[in-house]
Order: sequence, then structure tokens, then C-alpha cells
Amino acid sequence: MSTSKSHLKRTWVAKHISELPKSGIRDFFDIVSTMKEVISLGIGEPDFVTPWDIREATIYALNKGNTAYTSNLGDLKLRKAIAAHAEESFQASYNPETEIIVTVGVSEALDILMRAVLEPGDEVLYHEPCYVSYAPTVRMTHAVPVPVMTYEKNDFVLDIKDLEAAVTPRTKVLLLNYPNNPTGAGLTLDDKKALANFAIKHNLLVISDEIYEELSYFPRSMSIAALPGMKERSVLLNGMSKAYAMTGFRLGYACGPHEIIDAMMKVHQYSMLCASSISQAAALEALLHCDAEKETMRKEYEQRRNVIVKRLNAMGLHCFMPRGAFYVFPCISSTGLTSMEFATRLLKEKHVAVVPGTAFGSCGEGFVRCSYATSMEEIEEAMRRIKDFIAELRK
Ligand code: PLP
Repeated sequence: MSTSKSHLKRTWVAKHISELPKSGIRDFFDIVSTMKEVISLGIGEPDFVTPWDIREATIYALNKGNTAYTSNLGDLKLRKAIAAHAEESFQASYNPETEIIVTVGVSEALDILMRAVLEPGDEVLYHEPCYVSYAPTVRMTHAVPVPVMTYEKNDFVLDIKDLEAAVTPRTKVLLLNYPNNPTGAGLTLDDKKALANFAIKHNLLVISDEIYEELSYFPRSMSIAALPGMKERSVLLNGMSKAYAMTGFRLGYACGPHEIIDAMMKVHQYSMLCASSISQAAALEALLHCDAEKETMRKEYEQRRNVIVKRLNAMGLHCFMPRGAFYVFPCISSTGLTSMEFATRLLKEKHVAVVPGTAFGSCGEGFVRCSYATSMEEIEEAMRRIKDFIAELRK
């Protein structure tokens, strides 16, 4: 009798992966890609081409043949530039030899950090609405994502009372993203102090994803990671994608205590080895010489923000004034439509793509996300079309 089991039907995909929902944004943009003449306010990606000096530095690195692996942690010259940048821009001090790792975008930094610190069953507190990959990244480590809702009445800032209600003895991490995707919310220094006190009280690690911090439109303050008592319990994540318009370079970094960076390095060296050498050369140029270009883009986003918020409010879609990033999160509940209905009908009837707020968590119901990483002309035209759409709904 044969002992082979090869005839048995087997499920190849791991259960926890098959149970992960696909990103709501992707589903929506699959529909958009089949349509013509759509104005997209959906994409979370700068519309600027990467500044020329950065592209030129990339070409130069290629010409010189700088195409080999770098140190697993990333080129030391780049890590030194990151340390100087963190000091100047985030008032946070890190040793470039031991406390910084260069990664394939903030995406990889998040992934290897979660894998380095979480054990099955550990709980991670994070705010909703939030970036679509937070909960899946936690789930992929067999840990438990615990969403804490944020509300417009609190400027979409986490309320300590809500955090106190959600924390348990299994909570290990508090994951923050301010300035926030999708709401544009930001933290004041007092907000950061309150969150830091909460983390210290409950002995939590804070992961602070500050990828939009350099696209801030209100007075900036030091990173939460730089507050007293926080350095040993914080990891600061940042990258080149947004502020320097370098999404395709896939370059990010994490700064934190040596023990954690070293653990991340283990995961990184076995899974990724190192970030692209030519992207590292590009990032070095950006950090050393491209402050002016970064500021020009930030100012342009700020002007677009002012226009889009004014227009949306004027047409009766109440809109919170974003403090950073390049998203607005207008409330559409006055139309009587759900977020998904609003986005789907706006796309079909007026060919404008926005993302339903529910893609960022259930408390995004009643909102849609509009990105203003698109030209002023397109924004103006999209606003005209949305105004018509609302007027027709109200007839
Ligand atoms: N974190 C947030 C909050 C984001 O919005 C994004 C991208 O949209 C990322 C991380 C991923 O960035 P990266 O391109 O550095 O992987």
C-alpha cells in the first residue's frame, strides 16, 4: 500500500496570510485604472519628479560602478548624514555606527522592526484612521493589532483616556504616525509629552513613523523619541519617499537604541541584505544638498492644501485643516452617502478618484481621503467636478 500523501488536497497559503484583507486602496485603483480621463486625488505619492541633483548623483554612482552590496546597516557616510539630519530636524541624537539602519523604505523598516520586537500574542496599540499597512504588518508577526479610534473633535489625535482603556498587560508597542496619513493630523509638543508619559507609565516601546514630518505646515517640535526618558523606548522611522519625492528609490531608515537596531539588522541581513547602493548614493545627495528643493515642494503642497480645504468647506464638505503630509480628509456624511458610495459614485459620475475613509479603518466611515500631491490645475478641476456632484445630489 502506498504511504504517499501527495493525492491529498493541501492548502498552501498560510492561514494568517489568507485571512489578511487586501488593501482597500488597491481594489479601488484597480477600477480607476480601467477608466479614462480620471482626475486622481487618490495616490499617496508626490507628483514632483525627484530633484535633478539627486538624479544626477544616482547617475554618477552608476557611472562610477558603485553597484555592489553596502554594509548591512547601510553606507556609513549615509548613516552619518542621517544622524546629522535627525539632530537638526528632529532634535534626536543617534550614533551612526550603532543606532541607525538604512532600509528599503519605511515599509521595510516597519516590517523588520515588528519582526524584531514582537512575539505571538503581543499587542500593538495604534490609531485609526491610519496607514493601510499597520495592522497587516503586525498580524504577519502573529501579534495582535489593537486599534484606538481618533476623532475629528480631538483633531484626530489619540486621546489618553482611550489609550488607557485599550492597554493590557500584553501591550508592548504604541505605533504612531503624525503627521498622519490619511487625516493630515499633527501633534503639538504637549500631545507628544502626554503620549510619552503614557508609554513610560505602561513600559511600552514607541514606534514613531515620521515619514511626513518634513512636510509640516505648523510649528514643528522635537520628535517624541527625543523627549526625556524616551530614547531608550523609541524607534524613529523616516525615509526619502515623500519629502524628497523619491518613492521609487525605496530608501528609508530607522533610528533607535542599539539593542533594537541590532535585532532589526539580523532580520534585515537574512531577508534583504542591504538597501540598494545607488539609492543610498541618491539619499546621501538629498540629505546633504537638497534642502532648498525640499522646501520648494513643501511650500507648493501648503498652497494646494489651502486651496483644497477652502473649496471643500465652501461646498459644505466640512474639512479639517491638515497640519502636515499631503492629504485632506473631508467629512461627507452630510451627503447621506457612505464613504464607499460617495467614492464610487464620484468616480463613475464625475471621473474623480478619492479614497473611501473606511480603507484606513472603520472609523473612517463618513470621510474620504483626497491627496493634493497633484497639480493645482487638476485640483481646481477636481473641485469643480465635486461641487457639481454635490449640487446634483442635493437636487
Ligand atoms: N508610512 C506611512 C504613514 C505612509 O503613508 C507610507 C506610504 O504611503 C509609508 C510609511 C511607506 O513609505 P516608504 O515609501 O518609505 O516605504
